Amino acid sequence: MTTAEDLPWDATPFLPTEPEPSLDRLKDAAAQCQGCDLFQLGTQTVFGEGPPNALVMFVGEQPGDQEDRAGKPFVGPAGRVLDEALDEVGIDRSRVYVTNAVKHFKWTGKGKRRIHSKPNAREIRACRPWLEAELEDVEPRVVVVLGATAAQALLGASFRVTQQRGKPLEQTGLAPYVVATVHPASILRAPDPETRESESRAFVDDLRTVKHLLENDRGEHRR
Ligand code: SF4
Repeated sequence: MTTAEDLPWDATPFLPTEPEPSLDRLKDAAAQCQGCDLFQLGTQTVFGEGPPNALVMFVGEQPGDQEDRAGKPFVGPAGRVLDEALDEVGIDRSRVYVTNAVKHFKWTGKGKRRIHSKPNAREIRACRPWLEAELEDVEPRVVVVLGATAAQALLGASFRVTQQRGKPLEQTGLAPYVVATVHPASILRAPDPETRESESRAFVDDLRTVKHLLENDRGEHRR
């Protein structure tokens, strides 16, 4: 068993050394990552997925239980909420790249169940080189930050999704536009059907902003 002191707490040593590696090459390399303690907990690295020329990149927190087993991001219940919202606003899912700030599933055991556990700042920081490599490769026109962990990874610890959600952010150095919103899993955790419905509507409204940005983007606004 590797101890915390043995770990680099940085994914950089596991990144391919050649310049401009493809997404497939990055995915293969990430499968071997031992940059932080989470490689011992998750079943496998769950790398991002989507076309290399995707116009929009969605960044969530970490893979969930189903994603961990499947090795694919956003294939569980939260992924279905995202798919439905994309469908509703008319964003073509096949043009979208989806990934997470942290590429391994962090969980604690409760009986036979594996309960999601929030990654800490050290784990988020350690995994960021993979996200940076994905951003460099895909060069999306819009990055959609889903929830507080992704916001912490990409926009800093002081960023508050609750205050800035749905507003197009420029000059972030990530993409021409960044839009932050809630993680779709938070909609599933709503305490009652009415709240779930209103949160779902607000999420769809945020994605409408993304759709509008994509429609009006002429590509001249480089990051
Ligand atoms: S969570 Fe990220 S940094 Fe940690 S082992 Fe997995 S891929 Fe590497």
